[in-house]
Amino acid sequence: ALADSAPSGTELSGEALDLLHEGAQALGVSLSPAQLKQFVTLYGLLRQGATQMNLTALHSERDVVLKHFVDSLGALQATLWKEPERSSLQVLDLGTGAGFPALPLAISCPALKMTAMDATQKKVAFVERTAEALGLTVRGLSGRAEDLGQDPIHRGRYDVVVTRAVASLPVLAELALPLLKEGGWLIAQKGQLEDAEVAQGERAISLLGGELHPIQRSHLPFLGDARALVQVHKVAPTPAKYPRRPGIPNKRPLG
Ligand code: SAM
Repeated sequence: ALADSAPSGTELSGEALDLLHEGAQALGVSLSPAQLKQFVTLYGLLRQGATQMNLTALHSERDVVLKHFVDSLGALQATLWKEPERSSLQVLDLGTGAGFPALPLAISCPALKMTAMDATQKKVAFVERTAEALGLTVRGLSGRAEDLGQDPIHRGRYDVVVTRAVASLPVLAELALPLLKEGGWLIAQKGQLEDAEVAQGERAISLLGGELHPIQRSHLPFLGDARALVQVHKVAPTPAKYPRRPGIPNKRPLG
């Protein structure tokens, strides 16, 4: 049934472009004509990639624009971006999938030093190719966060970790906090977020050297779906034993 609502072409309609422009604006992001054009290109490449490699469940054009493009820009509502030296920040997208939120963030803030990371090499390769076609410098990194977090090349190296739809808060804390510099931020984009997950997440976060900031709750423009933006400040080093071995954070979440 979903395939019925998906347009067969890879061109974004004028209507969808208006939706993107207005949706971004509702989040306080103004996209230039050149940036809108990059989103049009991204849409075409996603459509091609989705059918070839089953990258992501792409539904209607409207869903792609709102649930992938506009939703990803929601990460920019975090308070950390208001700091003056935000442009040269090293940002890691943990579990980027087909490039979300990495690619929309790189389009709207081209000065960010963006790394798109995923456990699946095929997805990382897609994101690298797509970024190149868009003229963006996005570095691809394939591997599991549990391994990268214990690798001196990556541990403690990033100013910001962004992540969308990857794991529960206690798991994300263990995967992301080791990768951050002290003073860095984890920005996690979540849908529904229950109090129990927040409470367990908060205990895990403090074990790992983080401090949970007030959660910003909002709704996705035009669709109204609930969104929660979780912001965690890394205020102390993460104990060396974290992250634990691949799969353990999920199997036995901290907190
Ligand atoms: N962030 C993208 C989005 O919002 O469309 C993709 C979300 S998808 C549901 C979750 C992604 O996280 C998958 O591509 C998966 O391979 C990746 N992932 C899950 N656990 C991971 C881990 N421990 N290390 C690296 N990637 C992981």
